[in-house]
Amino acid sequence: MHDTLLIDGKSVTGAGKPTPVINPANGATIITINEASLEQVDAAVLAADAAFETWGQTTPKTRAALLSQLADAIERHGEELARLESLNCGKPYHCVINDEIPAVADVFRFFAGASRCLGGSAAGEYLEGHTSMIRRDPIGVIASIAPWNYPLMMAAWKLAPALAAGNCVVFKPAEQTPLTALFLARLMADILPAGVVNVLFGTGAEMGDALTGHERVRMVSLTGSIATGAHILSHTAGGIKKTHMELGGKAPVIVFDDADISEVVDGVRTFGFYNAGQDCTAACRLYVQRGVYDALVDALGKSVATIKTGDPADAATELGPLITAAHLQRVSGFVERARALPHIRVVTGGAPLDGPGFYFAATVLADARQEDEIVQREVFGPVVTVTVFDDEAQVIRWANASPYGLASSVWTRDIGRAHRVSARLQYGCTWVNTHFMLVSEMPHGGQKLSGFGKDLSMYGLEDYTAVRHVMIRH
Ligand code: NAD
Repeated sequence: MHDTLLIDGKSVTGAGKPTPVINPANGATIITINEASLEQVDAAVLAADAAFETWGQTTPKTRAALLSQLADAIERHGEELARLESLNCGKPYHCVINDEIPAVADVFRFFAGASRCLGGSAAGEYLEGHTSMIRRDPIGVIASIAPWNYPLMMAAWKLAPALAAGNCVVFKPAEQTPLTALFLARLMADILPAGVVNVLFGTGAEMGDALTGHERVRMVSLTGSIATGAHILSHTAGGIKKTHMELGGKAPVIVFDDADISEVVDGVRTFGFYNAGQDCTAACRLYVQRGVYDALVDALGKSVATIKTGDPADAATELGPLITAAHLQRVSGFVERARALPHIRVVTGGAPLDGPGFYFAATVLADARQEDEIVQREVFGPVVTVTVFDDEAQVIRWANASPYGLASSVWTRDIGRAHRVSARLQYGCTWVNTHFMLVSEMPHGGQKLSGFGKDLSMYGLEDYTAVRHVMIRH
């Protein structure tokens, strides 16, 4: 287990305050790590800035080769990384090793290849006697800030496109979950030139402003809460920095009378409760048409009641703990307030489980109303609400009447309706008859308060570049 930061290619001990890293499955301290001091934040940014002089000039072929090597190293160390991720986040080991490690390696491989396909959209003579071309050049130093729910995956989503495009990065994992990022830092130190990636540890409150506001940081990329996004936008406004914001979500799951109910039940059991529902795209806000409402609530309740909660190391475990005691309290608060409403029906779950560890039972709340807090706000836990609707126009209105705009799904056998409803939803992604499926080739990102900018795909790569026009007079 690594407890050092990466600054300018060197492993260094943080000069800031010691902070314990907690195992959410039992509340015990795994390790205590020193945070970076503000001087170390400055040193990391200056190292990235210095490295950009040469890294920004490397060919895509060179960068692609190094990113591919990194993907190989992640696969070689997949078991160690998966164990650390499981220990630090409480997510079942089998989910990390089977789902997440291959996806993380694939993201680095995708962007390795994508870097060689990046091009401008036009070149030609648009003014007589002049040739124009579009260039997509790297931006410089990127401050990348990640959340705790998918620490390694979010590191990949942020680092791979930024590096592929020729930028240098100062990466800050969430203070709760630094272990895989610090491990990855060692792998990167063996492969990438010094300073190209720097990895810090610390809280947003202590070091966030110093990092995002640093004059040499030209872009800030955040995956996190809306409050943090809003803070960073205002804090960096004076520096006119480029920003990339992947914020919260509250995905509507629209189920029409003609949907395959057993597929919906299986889908919500999986996609509503993966990672204990701590997922910005979680299938958590069900709208179900009246004709199948009772049958679906009944089947979903029975199915969700069989979700196996337990030790993340156990191969049978489906649902691990929540990330912290504070988050457990937050999720419990949402559910208690919902339960206090006379119309809410607790179909299954509805309460925290006995410790040790920060476990909350897989929960289905039926008869929820559009205006209820539990329908409107992101809970970020294993809690799914079900609301009845009557017609298409009503459900489109309700689905869109949300401050969030990240992910959504529509379940129907009617292809016309699937197209019609998908076209009207104001969400960065709409899945039809599935939910939560991500591929490196397709963009992921939000609208409205869920943010702007894309992760994954060529759009993600382009976000980490500056569009430039070069015009040559003949
Ligand atoms: P958070 O905003 O509290 O923290 C996210 C990161 O921001 C952490 O690294 C934190 O240290 C840092 N941070 C906090 N204050 C900062 C500041 N003032 N300056 C700079 N950095 C600061 O969010 P969280 O609780 O860790 O994560 C959960 C949130 O992330 C949820 O709302 C979830 O929906 C969202 N999320 C979104 C996506 C997406 O793709 N849209 C993916 C995963 C998580």
